[in-house]
Amino acid sequence: MCGIVGIYNHPEAANLAYLTLHALQHRGQESAGIAVSDGKTIRNYRRMGLVSEIFTEDALTKLPGDKAIGHVRYSTSGESLLKNSQPFCVNYTHGDLAIAHNGNLVNAQKIRSRLETQGSIFQSTMDTEVITHLMAGSREKDLVNILVDALHQVEGAYSLVLLTESCLVAARDPYGWRPLVIGKLDNSYIVASETCALDLIEAEYVREVEPGEIIVFDEKGMHLHKPFAVPQKKALCIFEYIYFARPDSHVFNRDVYEMRKGFGHQLAKENPVEADLVVPIPDSGVPAAIGYSEETGIPFQMGLIRSHYVGRTFIEPSQSIRHFGVKLKLNPVRETLKGKRVVLVDDSIVRGTTSRKIVKMVRDAGAREVHLRISSPPTAWSCYYGIDTPTREELIASSHSVDEIRKFITADSLAYLSEKGLYWFTKKHKEWFCDACFTGDYPVKAEQPKKLKLVQS
Ligand code: 5GP
Ligand code: MG
Repeated sequence: MCGIVGIYNHPEAANLAYLTLHALQHRGQESAGIAVSDGKTIRNYRRMGLVSEIFTEDALTKLPGDKAIGHVRYSTSGESLLKNSQPFCVNYTHGDLAIAHNGNLVNAQKIRSRLETQGSIFQSTMDTEVITHLMAGSREKDLVNILVDALHQVEGAYSLVLLTESCLVAARDPYGWRPLVIGKLDNSYIVASETCALDLIEAEYVREVEPGEIIVFDEKGMHLHKPFAVPQKKALCIFEYIYFARPDSHVFNRDVYEMRKGFGHQLAKENPVEADLVVPIPDSGVPAAIGYSEETGIPFQMGLIRSHYVGRTFIEPSQSIRHFGVKLKLNPVRETLKGKRVVLVDDSIVRGTTSRKIVKMVRDAGAREVHLRISSPPTAWSCYYGIDTPTREELIASSHSVDEIRKFITADSLAYLSEKGLYWFTKKHKEWFCDACFTGDYPVKAEQPKKLKLVQS
């Protein structure tokens, strides 16, 4: 998964890109980068690591200009290497171009193989690079038509920001898997994956970039290039609501926090249990646990405390270290849990390995019963559109029943939110969402992505 930002017409474009990326750090912790334009040249600075470590004052002063794009990355396609970090910069017939992408293209491999047999040389293993190659190969003359030409050939999920010497462009695929919003700060425009980035710099929310839209920011201001593709079906990612987006963001025109609390209410209605405490698995389980507690009247307690100094990047996917990682991150509050019947609430189970350790941890702390409640349906299918859910074999729910999973994680009871309950917030617009990770109902067919690993939050 990734987060992207774009800044147009602000004397401190790089500083604003830095701040907005900081607010989007939860969307990717492997690498970060900012590209700026001063009207003549594009300069790009990208490194592996966290935004606050990469962008020192010194690094930022070397990024002059009034336009910028930025990116934070957690790789879902292409390895975790500096050459695969973004923004990705090229120089082609029409000048300098930088691009930052959130989402996963599903036909990138096919296009890449075709272009390579025609002589193209790729610098990275990222799907995003095919967009720049397709743009370079276009016979169109102006930027927007060149981009449309390229986007008509790619399939899958993309929210994009592009930077040239003179303008900023934002685009979103016709299905709209990944969010993208526009804000205004005096005479400047801000584009960002989530509204929490706008809040940080006190920019005013304008609207979303709609699925299938290309929006240009140049000396004439902000203007819409008419939709480049007519959406056949919207496929907004429901997992953004469940886990991915920050709860203080407004995504797909709804408040994420309210959505998560609603999942918790629904979960409690469907799967009540007699208990003394509702305890979230922080941070991702907190809003749903509040909803569960509100619905049942069972008191909410922070029975597990999270250390906020464990960078996700520290947790390498080797079993021995991952085991250690859970303890580094979470510690039970013994006095609160002792002798209690506890409802643990989390947003999802992926492999089940972390959940198992947490259940044990809560029991070892003295809990009498441990009931796990999950605020989404079983994650049984891989995501090809940018969420890093592993290959199907690694998803415990792809091969185990709920009761088998319960046994594996050693809980007294386990229950998930139903597929119907997931859509508590809408009857009419259910078909606007992509829930392939729960249903296997893929809006667009895809190749299995190559690089996959998982760390938890
Ligand atoms: P498990 O018990 O499957 O090992 O871990 C479950 C945890 O993984 C949950 O707390 C959930 O917040 C987290 N998680 C769910 N989906 C994702 C994802 O796509 N990426 C990452 N990094 N973590 C996830
Ligand atoms: Mg979590």
